[in-house]
Amino acid sequence: MIPASTRYVRATSLEEALEALAEDDATALAGGQSLVSVMKLRLARPSLVVDIGRLDLAGLDVREGELRIGALTTWADIARAAELRRPALAALAECAAGIGDLQIRNRGTIGGGLAHADPASDMPAVVLALGARLVVRSTDGERVVDASEFFLGPFRSSVGEQELLTEVVVPLPPPGSGSAYAAVDHPASGFALAGAAALVRPDGSRSLALTGVGVRGNAFLLPDDEDPEAAIASAGIYGDRVAPAPYRQQLAVVVVQRALDRARSRAEEDVTWQA
Ligand SMILES: Cc1cc2nc3c(=O)[nH]c(=O)nc-3n(C[C@H](O)[C@H](O)[C@H](O)COP(=O)(O)OP(=O)(O)OC[C@H]3O[C@@H](n4cnc5c(N)ncnc54)[C@H](O)[C@@H]3O)c2cc1C
Repeated sequence: MIPASTRYVRATSLEEALEALAEDDATALAGGQSLVSVMKLRLARPSLVVDIGRLDLAGLDVREGELRIGALTTWADIARAAELRRPALAALAECAAGIGDLQIRNRGTIGGGLAHADPASDMPAVVLALGARLVVRSTDGERVVDASEFFLGPFRSSVGEQELLTEVVVPLPPPGSGSAYAAVDHPASGFALAGAAALVRPDGSRSLALTGVGVRGNAFLLPDDEDPEAAIASAGIYGDRVAPAPYRQQLAVVVVQRALDRARSRAEEDVTWQA
Protein backbone atom coordinates (compact mmCIF):
# COMPACT_ATOMS: atom_id res chain seq x y z
CA MET A 1 0.00 0.00 0.00
CA ILE A 2 0.98 3.62 -0.49
CA PRO A 3 1.25 5.79 2.64
CA ALA A 4 -1.02 8.84 3.04
CA SER A 5 0.70 12.02 1.92
CA THR A 6 2.79 13.78 4.53
CA ARG A 7 5.40 16.49 4.82
CA TYR A 8 9.03 15.55 5.48
CA VAL A 9 11.85 17.42 7.15
CA ARG A 10 15.39 16.23 7.81
CA ALA A 11 16.59 17.59 11.15
CA THR A 12 20.19 18.77 11.31
CA SER A 13 20.34 19.18 15.10
CA LEU A 14 18.59 17.71 18.14
CA GLU A 15 17.08 21.12 18.93
CA GLU A 16 15.69 21.42 15.40
CA ALA A 17 14.21 17.91 15.62
CA LEU A 18 12.54 18.64 18.96
CA GLU A 19 11.09 21.91 17.69
CA ALA A 20 9.69 20.16 14.60
CA LEU A 21 8.21 17.40 16.79
CA ALA A 22 6.34 20.01 18.83
CA GLU A 23 3.96 20.33 15.86
CA ASP A 24 0.70 18.31 16.19
CA ASP A 25 0.85 14.85 14.56
CA ALA A 26 4.59 15.02 13.85
CA THR A 27 6.52 11.71 14.09
CA ALA A 28 10.21 10.91 14.28
CA LEU A 29 11.78 8.70 11.62
CA ALA A 30 14.96 6.86 12.63
CA GLY A 31 15.81 3.70 10.63
CA GLY A 32 12.28 3.52 9.20
CA GLN A 33 12.09 -0.27 9.61
CA SER A 34 8.85 -0.12 11.59
CA LEU A 35 7.47 3.35 10.86
CA VAL A 36 7.43 2.98 7.09
CA SER A 37 5.46 -0.31 7.28
CA VAL A 38 3.01 1.22 9.74
CA MET A 39 2.55 4.24 7.44
CA LYS A 40 2.07 2.00 4.40
CA LEU A 41 -0.68 0.15 6.26
CA ARG A 42 -2.10 3.59 7.16
CA LEU A 43 -2.04 2.67 10.83
CA ALA A 44 -0.06 5.90 11.24
CA ARG A 45 -0.78 9.08 9.23
CA PRO A 46 1.61 11.70 10.57
CA SER A 47 1.20 15.16 9.08
CA LEU A 48 4.97 15.69 9.39
CA VAL A 49 7.79 13.12 9.37
CA VAL A 50 10.89 14.41 11.15
CA ASP A 51 13.94 12.47 9.94
CA ILE A 52 16.37 12.21 12.85
CA GLY A 53 18.60 9.70 11.08
CA ARG A 54 21.55 12.09 10.58
CA LEU A 55 21.68 13.42 14.14
CA ASP A 56 24.80 12.78 16.18
CA LEU A 57 23.15 10.16 18.39
CA ALA A 58 24.94 6.95 17.39
CA GLY A 59 27.72 5.07 19.12
CA LEU A 60 28.74 3.34 22.34
CA ASP A 61 30.82 4.75 25.16
CA VAL A 62 31.98 3.20 28.43
CA ARG A 63 32.81 5.69 31.17
CA GLU A 64 32.31 6.26 34.90
CA GLY A 65 30.80 2.84 35.54
CA GLU A 66 28.23 3.06 32.74
CA LEU A 67 27.78 1.99 29.15
CA ARG A 68 26.00 4.64 27.06
CA ILE A 69 24.40 3.65 23.77
CA GLY A 70 23.16 6.44 21.49
CA ALA A 71 19.56 6.03 20.31
CA LEU A 72 20.58 5.95 16.63
CA THR A 73 23.04 3.09 17.08
CA THR A 74 21.98 0.36 14.68
CA TRP A 75 21.43 -3.26 15.63
CA ALA A 76 24.39 -4.16 13.37
CA ASP A 77 26.73 -1.78 15.23
CA ILE A 78 25.55 -3.14 18.60
CA ALA A 79 26.04 -6.73 17.41
CA ARG A 80 29.70 -6.07 16.51
CA ALA A 81 30.65 -3.54 19.21
CA ALA A 82 33.98 -4.23 20.90
CA GLU A 83 32.56 -2.81 24.18
CA LEU A 84 30.02 -5.65 24.28
CA ARG A 85 32.53 -8.49 24.05
CA ARG A 86 32.72 -8.30 27.82
CA PRO A 87 30.78 -11.39 29.03
CA ALA A 88 28.78 -9.30 31.51
CA LEU A 89 27.36 -7.19 28.64
CA ALA A 90 27.17 -9.92 25.98
CA ALA A 91 23.34 -10.11 26.08
CA LEU A 92 23.14 -6.77 24.22
CA ALA A 93 25.24 -7.94 21.26
CA GLU A 94 23.70 -11.40 21.27
CA CYS A 95 20.19 -9.96 21.16
CA ALA A 96 20.98 -7.40 18.43
CA ALA A 97 22.67 -10.05 16.26
CA GLY A 98 19.42 -12.07 16.17
CA ILE A 99 17.06 -9.22 15.22
CA GLY A 100 15.43 -9.42 11.78
CA ASP A 101 17.76 -9.85 8.81
CA LEU A 102 20.84 -7.97 7.67
CA GLN A 103 18.88 -5.07 6.18
CA ILE A 104 16.80 -4.62 9.33
CA ARG A 105 19.95 -4.69 11.46
CA ASN A 106 21.79 -2.23 9.20
CA ARG A 107 18.97 0.35 9.30
CA GLY A 108 17.00 -0.35 12.51
CA THR A 109 18.10 1.50 15.64
CA ILE A 110 17.95 0.70 19.34
CA GLY A 111 16.06 3.95 19.98
CA GLY A 112 13.43 3.14 17.35
CA GLY A 113 13.11 -0.43 18.54
CA LEU A 114 12.58 0.55 22.19
CA ALA A 115 10.32 3.56 21.49
CA HIS A 116 8.17 1.45 19.14
CA ALA A 117 7.53 -1.01 22.04
CA ASP A 118 6.41 -3.93 19.90
CA PRO A 119 5.32 -6.61 22.40
CA ALA A 120 7.36 -9.25 20.55
CA SER A 121 10.53 -7.17 20.12
CA ASP A 122 13.68 -8.60 21.63
CA MET A 123 15.72 -5.77 23.16
CA PRO A 124 13.21 -4.67 25.85
CA ALA A 125 13.97 -7.86 27.82
CA VAL A 126 17.70 -7.12 27.75
CA VAL A 127 17.45 -3.50 28.90
CA LEU A 128 15.14 -4.64 31.72
CA ALA A 129 17.45 -7.42 32.93
CA LEU A 130 20.50 -5.11 32.80
CA GLY A 131 18.67 -2.42 34.78
CA ALA A 132 19.11 0.22 32.06
CA ARG A 133 17.88 3.81 32.16
CA LEU A 134 16.48 5.59 29.13
CA VAL A 135 17.26 9.27 28.50
CA VAL A 136 14.35 11.19 26.96
CA ARG A 137 14.58 14.77 25.63
CA SER A 138 12.01 17.41 24.71
CA THR A 139 12.10 21.18 24.27
CA ASP A 140 11.45 21.34 28.05
CA GLY A 141 14.67 19.47 28.89
CA GLU A 142 15.73 15.95 29.79
CA ARG A 143 14.25 13.19 31.91
CA VAL A 144 15.58 9.74 32.75
CA VAL A 145 13.26 6.74 32.93
CA ASP A 146 14.05 3.31 34.40
CA ALA A 147 13.56 0.52 31.88
CA SER A 148 11.07 -1.00 34.33
CA GLU A 149 8.82 2.05 33.86
CA PHE A 150 9.44 2.65 30.16
CA PHE A 151 7.16 0.07 28.49
CA LEU A 152 3.53 1.02 29.07
CA GLY A 153 1.66 -1.47 26.86
CA PRO A 154 1.58 -2.83 23.32
CA PHE A 155 3.21 -0.19 21.07
CA ARG A 156 3.19 2.30 23.95
CA SER A 157 6.34 3.55 25.59
CA SER A 158 7.00 6.37 27.99
CA VAL A 159 8.33 8.57 25.13
CA GLY A 160 5.72 11.25 24.42
CA GLU A 161 4.86 12.45 20.91
CA GLN A 162 6.96 15.57 21.34
CA GLU A 163 9.94 13.76 22.87
CA LEU A 164 12.92 11.78 21.64
CA LEU A 165 14.72 8.90 23.26
CA THR A 166 18.37 9.93 22.99
CA GLU A 167 20.39 7.40 25.00
CA VAL A 168 20.29 4.02 26.71
CA VAL A 169 22.43 3.96 29.87
CA VAL A 170 23.46 0.58 31.27
CA PRO A 171 25.17 0.41 34.68
CA LEU A 172 28.27 -1.79 34.33
CA PRO A 173 27.67 -5.05 36.20
CA PRO A 174 30.30 -5.99 38.82
CA PRO A 175 33.30 -8.05 37.57
CA GLY A 176 32.41 -11.75 37.48
CA SER A 177 28.91 -11.14 36.07
CA GLY A 178 27.50 -12.72 32.92
CA SER A 179 24.52 -11.92 30.72
CA ALA A 180 22.71 -13.68 27.88
CA TYR A 181 19.63 -13.48 25.65
CA ALA A 182 17.81 -16.55 24.32
CA ALA A 183 14.67 -16.66 22.18
CA VAL A 184 12.47 -18.95 20.16
CA ASP A 185 11.43 -16.94 17.11
CA HIS A 186 8.28 -16.88 15.03
CA PRO A 187 9.30 -18.87 11.92
CA ALA A 188 8.04 -16.20 9.47
CA SER A 189 8.62 -12.81 11.14
CA GLY A 190 11.64 -13.67 13.29
CA PHE A 191 10.08 -11.78 16.23
CA ALA A 192 10.21 -13.56 19.61
CA LEU A 193 7.49 -16.05 20.48
CA ALA A 194 9.32 -16.12 23.78
CA GLY A 195 12.58 -14.37 24.63
CA ALA A 196 14.50 -14.22 27.92
CA ALA A 197 17.38 -12.08 29.11
CA ALA A 198 19.45 -13.02 32.14
CA LEU A 199 22.08 -11.21 34.21
CA VAL A 200 23.88 -13.20 36.92
CA ARG A 201 26.17 -11.46 39.40
CA PRO A 202 29.13 -12.86 41.36
CA ASP A 203 27.13 -12.82 44.63
CA GLY A 204 24.70 -15.30 43.04
CA SER A 205 21.88 -12.78 42.56
CA ARG A 206 20.23 -12.54 39.15
CA SER A 207 17.80 -10.53 37.06
CA LEU A 208 15.53 -12.19 34.52
CA ALA A 209 13.21 -10.57 31.99
CA LEU A 210 10.85 -12.02 29.41
CA THR A 211 9.51 -10.69 26.13
CA GLY A 212 6.83 -11.89 23.71
CA VAL A 213 4.82 -13.77 26.31
CA GLY A 214 3.10 -11.35 28.69
CA VAL A 215 -0.67 -10.84 28.68
CA ARG A 216 -0.09 -7.15 29.36
CA GLY A 217 1.75 -6.92 26.08
CA ASN A 218 5.27 -5.86 27.01
CA ALA A 219 8.50 -7.30 28.29
CA PHE A 220 8.58 -7.68 32.08
CA LEU A 221 10.95 -8.59 34.89
CA LEU A 222 10.50 -11.81 36.87
CA PRO A 223 10.79 -11.43 40.66
CA ASP A 224 14.45 -11.81 41.72
CA ASP A 225 13.93 -14.34 44.47
CA GLU A 226 11.21 -16.59 43.04
CA ASP A 227 11.72 -19.88 41.20
CA PRO A 228 11.51 -18.85 37.48
CA GLU A 229 9.11 -21.63 36.51
CA ALA A 230 6.67 -20.70 39.29
CA ALA A 231 7.03 -16.98 38.47
CA ILE A 232 6.27 -17.66 34.78
CA ALA A 233 3.22 -19.75 35.72
CA SER A 234 1.78 -16.92 37.79
CA ALA A 235 2.73 -14.14 35.33
CA GLY A 236 -0.21 -14.52 32.94
CA ILE A 237 0.97 -15.83 29.57
CA TYR A 238 -0.34 -14.55 26.26
CA GLY A 239 -1.53 -17.06 23.66
CA ASP A 240 -2.57 -16.93 20.02
CA ARG A 241 -3.05 -19.27 17.06
CA VAL A 242 0.68 -19.61 16.43
CA ALA A 243 1.62 -20.25 20.05
CA PRO A 244 -1.26 -20.98 22.46
CA ALA A 245 -0.66 -19.93 26.07
CA PRO A 246 0.35 -23.38 27.49
CA TYR A 247 2.89 -23.84 24.66
CA ARG A 248 4.24 -20.30 25.02
CA GLN A 249 4.54 -20.84 28.78
CA GLN A 250 6.68 -23.89 28.13
CA LEU A 251 8.80 -21.91 25.65
CA ALA A 252 9.29 -19.24 28.31
CA VAL A 253 10.62 -21.83 30.77
CA VAL A 254 13.02 -23.17 28.12
CA VAL A 255 14.40 -19.77 27.04
CA VAL A 256 14.86 -18.68 30.66
CA GLN A 257 16.89 -21.82 31.36
CA ARG A 258 19.00 -21.31 28.22
CA ALA A 259 19.67 -17.66 29.06
CA LEU A 260 20.55 -18.51 32.66
CA ASP A 261 22.91 -21.34 31.68
CA ARG A 262 24.73 -19.12 29.17
CA ALA A 263 24.88 -16.17 31.57
CA ARG A 264 26.39 -18.40 34.29
CA SER A 265 29.12 -19.74 32.04
CA ARG A 266 29.86 -16.18 30.83
CA ALA A 267 30.16 -15.04 34.46
CA GLU A 268 33.11 -17.41 34.81
CA GLU A 269 34.73 -15.91 31.68
CA ASP A 270 34.10 -12.37 32.96
CA VAL A 271 36.39 -12.99 35.96
CA THR A 272 39.42 -13.26 33.66
CA TRP A 273 38.17 -10.96 30.90
CA GLN A 274 40.56 -8.29 29.62
CA ALA A 275 39.50 -5.55 27.18
C1 LIG B 1 10.85 -7.69 8.52
C2 LIG B 1 11.17 -7.16 9.91
C3 LIG B 1 11.67 -8.03 10.86
C4 LIG B 1 11.94 -7.56 12.14
N1 LIG B 1 12.40 -8.44 13.07
C5 LIG B 1 12.60 -8.03 14.31
C6 LIG B 1 13.03 -8.95 15.32
O1 LIG B 1 13.29 -10.13 15.07
N2 LIG B 1 13.17 -8.46 16.59
C7 LIG B 1 12.91 -7.14 16.90
O2 LIG B 1 13.06 -6.78 18.07
N3 LIG B 1 12.57 -6.26 15.97
C8 LIG B 1 12.38 -6.65 14.69
N4 LIG B 1 11.99 -5.74 13.75
C9 LIG B 1 11.81 -4.30 14.11
C10 LIG B 1 13.16 -3.60 13.92
O3 LIG B 1 13.97 -3.96 15.00
C11 LIG B 1 13.11 -2.05 13.85
O4 LIG B 1 14.39 -1.62 13.68
C12 LIG B 1 12.66 -1.31 15.07
O5 LIG B 1 11.41 -1.76 15.49
C13 LIG B 1 12.47 0.18 14.77
O6 LIG B 1 13.70 0.85 14.64
P1 LIG B 1 13.87 2.01 13.55
O7 LIG B 1 15.12 2.72 13.87
O8 LIG B 1 13.76 1.43 12.18
O9 LIG B 1 12.63 2.94 13.91
P2 LIG B 1 11.55 3.66 12.97
O10 LIG B 1 10.86 2.66 12.14
O11 LIG B 1 12.15 4.81 12.28
O12 LIG B 1 10.57 4.22 14.11
C14 LIG B 1 9.75 3.33 14.84
C15 LIG B 1 8.91 4.14 15.83
O13 LIG B 1 9.73 4.65 16.87
C16 LIG B 1 9.73 6.09 16.87
N5 LIG B 1 11.12 6.49 17.09
C17 LIG B 1 12.20 6.13 16.37
N6 LIG B 1 13.32 6.59 16.95
C18 LIG B 1 12.92 7.28 18.05
C19 LIG B 1 13.62 7.98 19.07
N7 LIG B 1 14.96 8.08 19.09
N8 LIG B 1 12.89 8.57 20.04
C20 LIG B 1 11.54 8.48 20.06
N9 LIG B 1 10.81 7.81 19.13
C21 LIG B 1 11.51 7.21 18.14
C22 LIG B 1 9.18 6.50 15.51
O14 LIG B 1 8.50 7.75 15.58
C23 LIG B 1 8.22 5.37 15.21
O15 LIG B 1 7.01 5.57 15.88
C24 LIG B 1 11.72 -6.18 12.46
C25 LIG B 1 11.23 -5.30 11.49
C26 LIG B 1 10.95 -5.79 10.22
C27 LIG B 1 10.43 -4.82 9.19
